[in-house]
Amino acid sequence: MPLYEYVCEECQHPFEALVFGENQAECPSCHGRKLARQLSVPARPKTEPTLPTACQSSGPPCGPMCSRFPQN
Ligand SMILES: [Zn+2]
Repeated sequence: MPLYEYVCEECQHPFEALVFGENQAECPSCHGRKLARQLSVPARPKTEPTLPTACQSSGPPCGPMCSRFPQN
């Protein structure tokens, strides 16, 4: 069930409404149907810690953290 945030353009009343299919939400305050749907804030994407990528088996070591970097 999509839950949308609206602000009524008639009375500026903010509210949330579940919208089913083609049903049109209406303002619970004035029952107006001139609504401005608010953009829902997307969940902040999880940023994964950047790990050194697996070094290719050929080529020079990719950096100080390279698993193939000479350990001695
Ligand atoms: Zn209203």
